[in-house]
Amino acid sequence: MRISAIDAFHLRAPLERPFGFSQFDYSQREAMLVRVSADAGLAGWGEAYGPAALTLAAVRDFFGPLLIGRDPRDTEALWALLYARSIDYGRKGALIAALSAIDIALWDIKAQAAGTPLYRLLGGAAAESIECYATGFYFGGGEPLEQRWEREARGYLEAGFRAMKMKVGQGIERDAELTAALRGVIGPDIKLAIDANHAYTPVEAVRLARKVEPYDIHWFEEPVSPLDPDAYLEVKRAVSVPLAGGECEYTRFGFEKWFRKRALDYAQPDICSCGGITEAMKIAALASLTSIHVTPHAWGSAVGQAAALHFYAARPRQPFTLTPERKLIECDRTENPFRTKIVDKPIRFESGRWFLPETPGLGVTPRPELFADYLAAG
Ligand SMILES: [Mg+2]
Repeated sequence: MRISAIDAFHLRAPLERPFGFSQFDYSQREAMLVRVSADAGLAGWGEAYGPAALTLAAVRDFFGPLLIGRDPRDTEALWALLYARSIDYGRKGALIAALSAIDIALWDIKAQAAGTPLYRLLGGAAAESIECYATGFYFGGGEPLEQRWEREARGYLEAGFRAMKMKVGQGIERDAELTAALRGVIGPDIKLAIDANHAYTPVEAVRLARKVEPYDIHWFEEPVSPLDPDAYLEVKRAVSVPLAGGECEYTRFGFEKWFRKRALDYAQPDICSCGGITEAMKIAALASLTSIHVTPHAWGSAVGQAAALHFYAARPRQPFTLTPERKLIECDRTENPFRTKIVDKPIRFESGRWFLPETPGLGVTPRPELFADYLAAG
């Protein structure tokens, strides 16, 4: 089997309701999807997280031409080739996200060629579905957040979610107020995580964590800078709230120091930027040397969501126990047409759970004829 073409698509959709978080406001959603075509009529899809114009150029002009004529099933060799060719200039950021998109597409082809859903090639799944947590509760929107978030929370509860994640990063007092208010709305039995997107110093993060400890916080995500694992350790040693992070980290070479220092309780590589399936498996293997649980960050289209789902389904919880903590996968609920409107069939979602696709490969297939309204380049 040989790779005959690699196409990259930059999709863009303006948001009906812009929203913000601790770093900036969103007025549009973007996606960069890659299609790798092989002879025998097979095609695989992947996605890159991050600035789509940059990752598209990296796929189209830099990585793509290196792969024509190669066997798409040689995932390990091709990853090593692309990493070696970019190591002098890359190692993190958009180049690794572009590599991730290609790698996911190669795994999609490999699983299709094997006639099996991807998760089986990655180790197999212990259950047919995984519980989702709803990612939402962003800032902005022109009405008091307490009011909008209450409505939002009730929608998630109706959809069957039993776990949710809210943004913090508006100042410690305001964050604590909003956390208390949301806990009041959802009651004591729903898991609630908070996410600062690295808005705080260690001292500030500790102050906030102590204020919200009474509200049973499932994890505090990106409390401090992703450049400073020791800052995480400062927070971790001062509070009982578990820490999560890793969506800004890349490859096993990046994650290794976080694991060695035990700076996290939950590591959150994004399959669409950490180096793809090939690299996420290695990151998970490194994490398995520690007590750190790997749970993927996922904020993309149906393709990125499917990649995260297959990967996570095949990862066991550790340490083993008859009463393990529930595995929770991220389910972004912010406005994004690319989760549903560009694929033939989105991942099946029911009662707060995603069901593993049983069709060969990723199990979601983007349809380029559905891209017309969104195509910025490609
Ligand atoms: Mg986050």
